[in-house]
Amino acid sequence: MLNILNTSKPLALDFCLSEWKAWCAKAGYPKFAAKQIFEWIFKKGVLDPELFSNLSKDKRLFLKESFTWEPMTTDCHLISKDGTEKVLLKTHDNLLVEMVLMPYENRVTLCLSCQVGCKMGCTFCQTGKMGLKRNLSSGEILYQLTYANHLSEKKGRRVSNVVYMGMGEPLDNYKAVVKACKAMIDPDAFGLSKSKVTVSTSGLLPEIERLGRDVPVRLAISLHSADQEKRSQMMPIGRKYPLDEMKEVLKKYPAPSRHGVTFEYVLIQGENDSIQDAKKLVKFLHGIKAKVNLIPINNFPGVDMLPSDTAHITDFQKYLTDRSIPAPVRYSRGQDISAGCGQLAAKRENELHLDPRVLQKQRRQHETR
Ligand code: SF4
Repeated sequence: MLNILNTSKPLALDFCLSEWKAWCAKAGYPKFAAKQIFEWIFKKGVLDPELFSNLSKDKRLFLKESFTWEPMTTDCHLISKDGTEKVLLKTHDNLLVEMVLMPYENRVTLCLSCQVGCKMGCTFCQTGKMGLKRNLSSGEILYQLTYANHLSEKKGRRVSNVVYMGMGEPLDNYKAVVKACKAMIDPDAFGLSKSKVTVSTSGLLPEIERLGRDVPVRLAISLHSADQEKRSQMMPIGRKYPLDEMKEVLKKYPAPSRHGVTFEYVLIQGENDSIQDAKKLVKFLHGIKAKVNLIPINNFPGVDMLPSDTAHITDFQKYLTDRSIPAPVRYSRGQDISAGCGQLAAKRENELHLDPRVLQKQRRQHETR
């Protein structure tokens, strides 16, 4: 619970219903006001308390003065030829955060960020090259969903699916991510179906076990190789949490959908796309209810990796589907607008010539708040 008497203003989106109840009791608001405020913010997506029409004017003004309502500003907003929208948001401490909105015929998917940068250091990932700058709060995560709903509503739609596949490792920011997930699937808040919220992790096993107990969302694993040595080279976390231990944890994960656990598998030419690799993958998946998303890698500057060619993609996919493992190929959308994870933020940061010393100073300032 944040100290409401503190002069620095808390973020309205950071408060869950019980925190609003406590705040209202302290501020002398009637009991039912907490639910009203909560619904304006999380259900209706209104971040201007002056529009909270069921509260008196003085209460609206006091709310406005007491909280930060818009935690981020828009740095840039790009729309791809395929309809994908990428938004770069700037936090109060001048850090850049990406979100990607992907409208499909039957759904609108938001890919959001949970950290600025990431410390996991996966070799094929642009965000990993940035290192971790800081965690986002639950409110900063939920702001991305609120903002994405505003963009979608202009086209008569709403976000139906959320995936934590933007910047950051969600389970490295566990508390904020779980709090945000709870608001996403709360019928009195964002009201998303629990099978439409997916937390994607590089494989932090103790936190996967906790997640299964704490919130009933879907789980995706960034796998990318079922060969222990190869995976550890691509993803340093693989040394700490080896594949055999991961398998035991996943077998017990209470997956809330008919698909079980989703595995993300980036296809990199000559690296992890042979039939030998597919065989190891099938062996690893034996006993787990699994679906594999095959994603030809997105090229980005400074990394010497190419996407697999069509023949390798087709053979790899066929090997899996012949063994009853669903394996759709997911081509990255919005390639003309740097839609791969972390790509636009890295590009903008270079453009802005942000001096690492400035970033470090900003980080220190944030940490002492
Ligand atoms: S793939 Fe995910 S976990 Fe790995 S560095 Fe990138 S953001 Fe972090």
